[in-house]
Formats: sequence, structure tokens, C-alpha cells
Amino acid sequence: MLEIRGLAASIEDKPILKGIDITVPDGEIHAIMGPNGSGKSTLGYVLAGREEYEVTAGGVTFNGADLLAMEPEERAVAGIFLAFQAPIELPGVNNANFLRTALNAIRRARGEEELDAAQFLKTARAAAKTLAMKEDLLKRNVNVGFSGGEKKRNEVLQMAILKPRLAILDETDSGLDIDALRIVADGVNALRSPDFSALVITHHQRLLDLLVPNRVHVLAHGRIVRSGGPELALELEKSGYAAMVQEAA
Ligand code: ADP
Ligand code: MG
Repeated sequence: MLEIRGLAASIEDKPILKGIDITVPDGEIHAIMGPNGSGKSTLGYVLAGREEYEVTAGGVTFNGADLLAMEPEERAVAGIFLAFQAPIELPGVNNANFLRTALNAIRRARGEEELDAAQFLKTARAAAKTLAMKEDLLKRNVNVGFSGGEKKRNEVLQMAILKPRLAILDETDSGLDIDALRIVADGVNALRSPDFSALVITHHQRLLDLLVPNRVHVLAHGRIVRSGGPELALELEKSGYAAMVQEAA
């Protein structure tokens, strides 16, 4: 279970998050929606442990442990995975080797046996196939020259292989056609279990139709202005963010 309590965070002394409260019980998928610039990506980065962000108030526990006290690597071992809104390119780094290194670091830390190159490739190829992802993307440098859609698929591939306990997807569906959107949704749904939860940042009702979140939270100006069931997303689609944001101001 993820518990975010009164979380405030700044970047370069500029307050971005101004007191966020969200609880995501195990087994649940929560959507985060809200206008551009409201702090959605910032929330993802703070949870994943990106260094530029300073937490100025509040706290976060993950399965009872103080998440904010953990190094980013420790968070990954604890099962936290962030799919970036803008996946970074890593020239000179082979995609399959990169993924195997990440997976083996997690397995090692958990006392599990590491996978050798052949074992890993078998797993990775199977996962790529499920995602209708071209196999040669495994052999190429991480995200270098990947199309927008291929980068997003690669994020879902990472998630499928690392099998996180908490996945944070930051607009992984943006810029994807309908078939690719379904693949993102299937990727998340395939991980659904009582031990898995997800925070899905999205603007798209279509993704939420496929995922059916347990809760929807609307973030505006660094605060949660509304939380509700899946029907809240439908309301947003009809009326837009403006009314809700104003109502809360
Ligand atoms: P969202 O994902 O909801 O669109 P972000 O979390 O990306 O919003 O950004 C929230 C606010 O923080 C924006 O006003 C953005 O300009 C600001 N911000 C994000 N990163 C930086 C940075 N590195 N330096 C200064 N401001 C930043
Ligand atoms: Mg964002």
C-alpha cells in the first residue's frame, strides 16, 4: 500500500506540490488527471526519487517503509517503477543489456538468481511479442531513434519484465494510436494482482475505459481538488477541468 500524506515539494525553491494526500491500497489502480503544469509528473518523480526535487513537507510510506528515505535504487528493489512521460535516449547502451542489468540488480537485491543473457533474451522476446513490439528494438540502443510510440512500448516492456509492485505511468498513452493504447492497458492489466497497484497519469478516458481505475484524483495547482470513482473521469470528459479547478480555488 502506498500512502502519501501532506506531500509538498519544490524545484529550485519553486513550490510545485502543495499538500497531496493519496492512499493506493494493494491491488488497486488509481488515475491522476489534471491540467498541464499542475504537478502530475513532479509527483511521479518525487515518488521515484529524482534528486532535483526537494520534499518540503509530508511523507510517503510504501508497504510501511519510509519511501522518501530510500535511494532510487532501493525504491526499485522495493518494487516501484516509473514509466517516464518523455523516455530518455541512452546512446551506446544496448536495450536488452540495459534491461537485463536492471532486472538482475533487482533480483540480486532480493536474493533471487540472476538471469544469463540467453535466459533473459527468451523472457524479453516473449514480452516484446505480447506487446507487438519489433524484436530488433531489443538490439538497438535504448530509445535512440525510436518513434514516440516505440518509446512508450519500450516503457511498457520494461514494466512487463521488471514486474513492479507499484507502477507509475506518466502519460504513457499520450501520442499513441488506439491499438497501442490497448497494448498499454493490456500491459497494466496483465500485472493486476492483489500485490500490484498503479498510479496512472492520463488525460484519456479511452485508457480508463480499458483499465477501469478504482479511484480518480484530479490534481490542479499542486493540490488534489477532487477524488472519486471512475465516473469522475467521465464528468471531466464532459465538462473539462476549468469548472473543477475554479470550484476548488
Ligand atoms: P504536469 O505533469 O502536471 O504537466 P509538471 O509536474 O511537469 O506538471 O510541472 C509542474 C510545474 O513545475 C510546472 O509549472 C513546471 O513548469 C514546473 N517545473 C517542472 N520542472 C521544473 C524545473 N526543472 N524547473 C522549474 N520548474 C519546473
Ligand atoms: Mg507531466
